[in-house]
Amino acid sequence: MPDESSLKKIMDEIKEVAELLHKSNNTVVLTGAGMSTESGISDFRSNRGVYSEIPEEVFSLTYFYRYPRQFYDAVLKYLYIKDLQPNIGHIILAEWEEKGLVHQIITQNVDSLHFDAGSKKVIEIHGTGKTATCLRCKRQYVFAELVAKGGEFYYCDCLDKHADNLIKRDTVLFEENVPRYEDAFKIIQKAELVFVLGTSLTVYPVADLIEYAPPRSKIVIINKTTTSFDNSRQVIAIHKPIGKTLMAINELIEVQ
Ligand SMILES: [Zn+2]
Repeated sequence: MPDESSLKKIMDEIKEVAELLHKSNNTVVLTGAGMSTESGISDFRSNRGVYSEIPEEVFSLTYFYRYPRQFYDAVLKYLYIKDLQPNIGHIILAEWEEKGLVHQIITQNVDSLHFDAGSKKVIEIHGTGKTATCLRCKRQYVFAELVAKGGEFYYCDCLDKHADNLIKRDTVLFEENVPRYEDAFKIIQKAELVFVLGTSLTVYPVADLIEYAPPRSKIVIINKTTTSFDNSRQVIAIHKPIGKTLMAINELIEVQ
């Protein structure tokens, strides 16, 4: 049980965040793996995250070309849940967009749960795992349908023999550029309020991105663990579950 003073601190912070959200004319939300763990997806870098079991090189372009079977085995084991549903956090963000409180979401996640929850202004800087594309003929597939085929589902029919007809998920792997980084960068530069949800801000490009938030903007970090930005003057850091924290903020928004 938290003691009374830490409880009061959290309540004060929640109240402050609700007021900031209400006042802000340009709120940008940055989300990472922790956003989706409440939907049952593993994160990458926590103690029990994906990278505690396999090296991150598995999700590199080189590894994918060399060992597509092992690459997809890892995707299916760690990153793919068939009937994934958005959680309360995704739903509240979609409601806030509808109410004009959230102006843009930038996500590192490839699960498309923000879209599933009804958010429209979403930039998926690491792409989406919902679709996959043949590297040779560019035919696009629904990833779930490919997986359902089983076998060597990751080779396209456009060639008889297996060669450069690999089907790659439409996600950004290590060693690849982040095509929408520029867009994300421009958006952050104009933000008045930035929410950082479920990322420890250790990984390029998101850690860099946050540095470009205007000096007068406020940054609200909600993450399970501490981040190196927590003690910055602009930052309110809350180390509580995202869904519950957003619900608490939302209750205050509704009475305003
Ligand atoms: Zn093809």
